[in-house]
Amino acid sequence: MQLSDGQPALQAAKTCELHVHSGGSLFAADLLNLARDHYEKIDWSLFVDSFERAYGRRPDPVALFREALHSQRLDALKAHYVYGAEDGGDFARFQAKFNLKICIYRHWWKVLGQPEEILQRVFAHHRREGLRYVEYRAMAPYDHTRPEAFVQFHALTARTIAQACTADFTARYLVSLPRWAPLECYKLVQRLLDENEDLLSTIVGLDFCHFEEGYPPASTRAFFRCLHRDNELRPERTLAVAYHVGEVYFDKSLESAVRWCQEAAELGALRLGHCTALGLDPEVAVARRPQAHERESVSERLAQIAYDLHHKSALEEFGVPVDDQALMQERSRLASRPDDALVGRAYDPSRLEAVRRRQDFALSRLAALGAVVETCPTSNLRIGAVPDANDHPVHRFLASDIRLAIGADDPGLFDCTLADEVNWVQHHTGLTPSALQARLGDPYAYRFAR
Ligand SMILES: [Zn+2]
Repeated sequence: MQLSDGQPALQAAKTCELHVHSGGSLFAADLLNLARDHYEKIDWSLFVDSFERAYGRRPDPVALFREALHSQRLDALKAHYVYGAEDGGDFARFQAKFNLKICIYRHWWKVLGQPEEILQRVFAHHRREGLRYVEYRAMAPYDHTRPEAFVQFHALTARTIAQACTADFTARYLVSLPRWAPLECYKLVQRLLDENEDLLSTIVGLDFCHFEEGYPPASTRAFFRCLHRDNELRPERTLAVAYHVGEVYFDKSLESAVRWCQEAAELGALRLGHCTALGLDPEVAVARRPQAHERESVSERLAQIAYDLHHKSALEEFGVPVDDQALMQERSRLASRPDDALVGRAYDPSRLEAVRRRQDFALSRLAALGAVVETCPTSNLRIGAVPDANDHPVHRFLASDIRLAIGADDPGLFDCTLADEVNWVQHHTGLTPSALQARLGDPYAYRFAR
């Protein structure tokens, strides 16, 4: 289908990728290609051990690759790499399959000394798909005692990305910061930029990804303060922040999960990854597991009480009852308890309805701030514990005023493309391509490139 301006429908959304991890962008065919001359020498222990822990059996990667090369069939390899619906939304299983790629990557980095080869496969795939603008992100393992390894990894990745750019393919890079050491690693990124000024136009932002549970956005406050000050002092090297939040949040109440998304935006993250907590219906969310979201730490409950008192009048405008006397009494009772002690509260229909209205309030705050939600349908269904297409948060997002972009997240591991993800949204929302395009706009407008 074509639109009246002659462009294929949803062309902008299908050619501009804002939420993708370079590590998750290798397809099974790429792995076969990269390992064909090396599979007998690669150290597979990381993959084999984690796979055994997650699936209860030890795979034989050498036999797997030998058979795939012999038969020229990818089925068995895909069964050990592609993360499907049948894997049951278990992050340990996702990581076990991801480790197949890590073993190959380590071999190319540490034994062959050619890690760029891995990224070249990723760029080739994205070019073949017709992508024109991509912001890649990558996470390096971080060890306090070896800061130079962090700098080296990201400088090399950024330089390879810079060299991949052509007239019709532009790539940029967001450095993923470990959630447990954001400020420390942010300073290393600044050091990297000091030492590599040629990478200024490529490294345009920072990202927070991987497990979010245990890392409240409030713990990044010092990092954001420092970032905003630096951005103001040196606007020519402004770094923007993308932040995975509200993706997997079984460790806390639904109210806190909603709050986290809002807090990440208010701290200054311009794009938020997933935000399932803002769009998944509360009744569906609590039905996902027995006693889901009923318990959380005292520190989270106290943070929620502070939020409710602070936003009392705005919450009430959205129909959320806030009993400040009761909240202050509860705060006094909790004050003497350890931060990590657990408090539990069961859900009833009125609390679930209040959470729905809290989602509306937080979405309105995101819209007012101009924050973009990056939604990744397949990822949310397979690892984000969204039970069904009809429950996907994208429906609420589309009905709200927030800015919205669609991403493929880890397309190689999900065996999907960005176009597949956009088509999924169109199919499951029942919107016409032109109506969806009109709602989304051009994601290129939300890029971090300066
Ligand atoms: Zn992601």
